[in-house]
Amino acid sequence: MPHNIAVLGSTGSIGTQTLDIINQFPDRFKAVVLAAGSNVDRLIEQARIHRPALAIIADENKYSTLREALEPLGIETAAGAKAMADAMERPDFDTVVTATVGYSGLLPTIRAIKAGKQIALANKETLVVAGELVTRLLRDSASTVIPVDSEHSAIYQCLQGEDPATVKKLIITASGGPFRTWTHEETARVTAAQALKHPRWQMGAKITIDSATMLNKAFEIIEARWLFDVAPEKIEAVVHPQSIVHSMVEFVDGAVKAQLGIPDMHLPIRYALGDASRLPSEERPLSLCDYANLTFEKPDSEKFPCLTLAPRALTDGGNTACIINAANEVAVAAFLKGQISFHGIYDVITDALSHIPFISSPTLDDYVATHNETIHYATDACNTIWLKDMR
Ligand code: NDP
Ligand code: MG
Repeated sequence: MPHNIAVLGSTGSIGTQTLDIINQFPDRFKAVVLAAGSNVDRLIEQARIHRPALAIIADENKYSTLREALEPLGIETAAGAKAMADAMERPDFDTVVTATVGYSGLLPTIRAIKAGKQIALANKETLVVAGELVTRLLRDSASTVIPVDSEHSAIYQCLQGEDPATVKKLIITASGGPFRTWTHEETARVTAAQALKHPRWQMGAKITIDSATMLNKAFEIIEARWLFDVAPEKIEAVVHPQSIVHSMVEFVDGAVKAQLGIPDMHLPIRYALGDASRLPSEERPLSLCDYANLTFEKPDSEKFPCLTLAPRALTDGGNTACIINAANEVAVAAFLKGQISFHGIYDVITDALSHIPFISSPTLDDYVATHNETIHYATDACNTIWLKDMR
């Protein structure tokens, strides 16, 4: 029986690589639902090839274009965030790849968990925003999660066959981004074009900026804390500029297991879709002799202050990480538009943290309200910075 799959964010970096894997194994996988944000042309093109049962566009202004193109082909269409979340209850697929960017992943993932779907989780923001709630829901559901984020996939692979009680430390590798060797003064003047040039990975714009500020690594520490139910003090980040060692697990006997590979997301996506099995790769193999040096260094949280937001979020708990995520979404968009500086991203996040009320045990409604309130607050903060700089 093939796995029937819903791909949320099919037009993005992870989404298109997911469709590559589905193409590679037509007897094993079938795309049944495709969903995108606003790139209706690409969604239509993908639907013509994959012939899903349903195609969804989040941007309701694009709905008539989608419907007119796909209804003659017998493909059902829908629009809006609610339609995407409602689709998670359809009985015609068993697996969902959550590859939309940012907060938009949270509500569909929660609905997919409640519907008992298998989840290939790329959207790390789901666990950043509401990790405590999401893992609680998972415990009471038939749903399973296999991570797609390369570091978490590596850790998941290293943990196979091991007793969780013997884990001493999770060691998450970080490329260090494009500004690893720059001084704090130099990064003050960074442009969006410079920050979008990641040295190792081809990814969507938002995660590329998060990698440049290293907030992505802070998010991955939070993601690991919830995915693997490991105490925060047992999770460490190490900078590894070659991005060959995707992450490691240290055990109580001193053994350290690592998963290595070329930097290419097809592997973790294929592993997650294949239920943690080893399906053959079409990418170039890793040749270790091509790498004279695999190096490791301590991350520098003075140069990259966003790294300090992981311990802060995990120590304070509650809605702290939700505030960080929402403020960052606004700040990254403002940075990409040239409204605020690279360092301004951290400043907007800490400003929001000191203004948005703390909630120690948030409900889902509290997370939604915190997100909306923070988006509003951070948007005003970015506009104020922009207007001040224009004077
Ligand atoms: P992209 O920006 O390339 O793609 C994002 C996808 O989400 C697009 O299909 C986009 O649609 C869709 N989308 C955007 N906004 C919305 C919305 N409001 N509602 C529904 N869909 C929306 O991002 P990536 O593929 O790089 O990243 C996706 C997720 O995977 C992120 O959470 C990221 O952190 C995570 N991830 C990505 C990695 C990578 O290598 N790219 C590695 C590890 C994790 P459209 O194009 O139509 O606007
Ligand atoms: Mg990653």
